[in-house]
Amino acid sequence: MSVKESLHSILSTLPQGVKLVAVSKFHPAERLMEAYEAGQRIFGESRPQEMTAKAAELPKDIEWHMIGHLQTNKVKYIAPYVAMISSVDSARLIDEIERQAARHNRVIDILLEVHVADEESKSGWEINELRQYLTTDAFKALTHIRVRGLMTIATNTDDQAVIRRDFSLIKDIFEQLKPQFDESFDTLSIGMSDDYPIALEYGSTMVRIGTAIFGAREY
Ligand SMILES: *Cc1c(COP(=O)(O)O)cnc(C)c1O
Repeated sequence: MSVKESLHSILSTLPQGVKLVAVSKFHPAERLMEAYEAGQRIFGESRPQEMTAKAAELPKDIEWHMIGHLQTNKVKYIAPYVAMISSVDSARLIDEIERQAARHNRVIDILLEVHVADEESKSGWEINELRQYLTTDAFKALTHIRVRGLMTIATNTDDQAVIRRDFSLIKDIFEQLKPQFDESFDTLSIGMSDDYPIALEYGSTMVRIGTAIFGAREY
C-alpha cells in the first residue's frame, strides 16, 4: 500500500474527533510529503534535531509533535515552533519548557506522559509522583504551558489483556485528573500501529501511528 492508501484506510477507522499523529521518525522528508499531499498535517518525531531539520524543509502549516523522550537541554531547539510536546515526564522538563516558551512568547501545549506499562524501561511519571506534583505551587504558577491531557505507551506484548489493563488504567487516571484542569484538558493520547484499535475502545482522542503508515523504520 502507498502512504496515501495506508493513511486513508487508518483514517476511515477513526471515530470523529480522534486525531491522527503520523509518526514519521527515521523516515525521509519525501515520505512525509506523500502523507502531507494526502492531507495529513500532524507529524510526530522523537528526536529534536531531526524534527527541526524536517520543519525547516517542509510546509509551514504542519503541526509538529515531539513524542520521544526529550532532554531538557534540547527544548530550546524546538520551542520556537513545536505544536505539542507529548512526552513530558518530569518537573525539570516542565520548568525548561516554561522558560523557553516564555522566551518565545508562546504557550506550548503538553501532554503528561504516565507510566503504566510493565516494563521498567518505559518512561513517564509514576502516578503518585504526578498527583503530588500537580499540587505544588511550582505547577500552579506555570503561565506558558497548557496541559492538554495524558499520554502513555502500553506494555509491548501480544497479550491483549495486558494492553487492555494499561489502557483502562490510563483512562481512569485521565478521568480522575480532569476536574483539576479547565476544558483544554481534552486529550488522551493512546494507541500505536499495533494497539490503536484497542486504544479507541478506551477513549483515545489521539493515536500515534508510524509503521502502519510509513512501513518499517530503518534505525
Ligand atoms: C515510535 C512511536 C510511535 C509509533 O509507533 P508505531 O508502532 O510505528 O506506530 C508512537 N508513539 C511513540 C511514543 C513512539 O515513540
